[in-house]
Amino acid sequence: MQHFPIFLDLAGRRVVVSGGGAAALAKLRLLLKTQAVIFVFAAEADHQILTWAAEGALTLVPRALEPGDAQCAALFYAANEDDAEDGRTAALARADGALVNIVDNLEDSQFITPAIVDRDPVTIAIGTEGAAPVLARAIKADLEERLPATLGTLARIGKGFRKMAEALPFGRARRDFWQDYYFNAGPRAITQGTEAVDRALDDLLARHLTRPERPGHISFVGAGPGDPDLLTLKARKALDAADVVIHDRLVPQPILELARREATMIDVGKTGFGPSAKQEDINALVVQHGLEGAQVVRLKGGDCTVFGRLDEEVEAVLEAGLSYDVVPGITAASAAVASIGQSLTKRGRNASARILTGHDMQGFADHDWRSLARPGEVAAIYMAKRAAHFLQGRLLMHGAAPDTPVTVVENASRPDQRVLGTTLDRLSNDLGEADLNGPALMLFGLAPRDGLPATTFDQEAFPWPVASLPKSSPQMPSSLATSSI
Ligand code: SAH
Repeated sequence: MQHFPIFLDLAGRRVVVSGGGAAALAKLRLLLKTQAVIFVFAAEADHQILTWAAEGALTLVPRALEPGDAQCAALFYAANEDDAEDGRTAALARADGALVNIVDNLEDSQFITPAIVDRDPVTIAIGTEGAAPVLARAIKADLEERLPATLGTLARIGKGFRKMAEALPFGRARRDFWQDYYFNAGPRAITQGTEAVDRALDDLLARHLTRPERPGHISFVGAGPGDPDLLTLKARKALDAADVVIHDRLVPQPILELARREATMIDVGKTGFGPSAKQEDINALVVQHGLEGAQVVRLKGGDCTVFGRLDEEVEAVLEAGLSYDVVPGITAASAAVASIGQSLTKRGRNASARILTGHDMQGFADHDWRSLARPGEVAAIYMAKRAAHFLQGRLLMHGAAPDTPVTVVENASRPDQRVLGTTLDRLSNDLGEADLNGPALMLFGLAPRDGLPATTFDQEAFPWPVASLPKSSPQMPSSLATSSI
């Protein structure tokens, strides 16, 4: 971030603009929303600027800027639409100590003016460091459409009520009150005018002051395979309402960033839980926050009902007398088959597909190898990398065809996704050579659809950078890495 966004108090401060044409006009339209004391220096000025000057909204000095004109100015805009004049006036203003912006000249400017969505007092500033003005405009248009025009009025009335709302205890009770105001009572009341909003606030406060404290609640939420776009709307809502988010190592940063800003984030994949009591420690942590009255999101990679040790945590929550719900997510198997253009079941090929684990708490997991070895069988095998050699041996031994297709998808749905298409007899070898180190899912009995290269991924299509993915954590105890995430 080269430009640091701040909101500057311009009330009573001097702001100087050099120029009287369209560029100056555009900046003045924004500046006039503030309570700055505005001076415009222009030998010739647009009639709108003349009108503003006549109305007393700004002071027009009908000549070019001279040394000393920008003294004590907080901000200076060179908007002359003439490079030489912009350069001259910017140098003068800088010498006078003002922060300088040259319109349409990012390089020589000390600050830039963002695209603004104005629902005063709610102001949203959008900046792209000059990289993509089109994007800034599109985001602005999107927000303009989404945020009701009444938002500013609600916020202004709300601001006047903040002292009254302090009757509620700080924290969740107060937050719930404001949530109720901005998303329920406020928007409903404002259709009948601002006095109705005042009345609604009084009623709402009375209701919140007498209502019993909301008990803690645990939402077990599936975060999906990694791409934030594969989160469910329900998962997003849960993250938005969370007081505490207890998450695993598989959940990448871009998803964690969707949690409410004030939420406490606890990474149980990294906090060094002891080797024997780790699952119990996680259970205890979830319960402890629930008992303290928090809305807890227990965020697990993929779907929390698939190899997620969900039941142990649910039982602990029930034992503590807490309520819970389960928000399903897209499991790695779904993301993996999607990446190779195949389906898990197919009429005439396989009427069932298995979800297996490569190893469990006891080590490499045993399965019904004979039935799996039959032609046309399909299995999504989780945690299969280390068990690959073992799986290969068991399946071949039980009669599986050596040329049975096997596809391993690493980091499915993520920017660093890799697809390894192989066959059962080459599996162990090819995996060794591929040297995969992210989470990987093995699709037994499936090959990438014809026409898809063995390694497929369109990096460009993904909006979040590879660098933002968390690296695998060395502190993560291995049993947690394989069973609890
Ligand atoms: N609950 C998760 C599974 C947890 S077990 C789910 O529903 O997906 C952890 C295993 O899931 C990993 O070892 C790997 O086999 C698989 N996995 C999770 N995310 C993955 C991803 N993005 N790509 C490939 N495999 C993944």
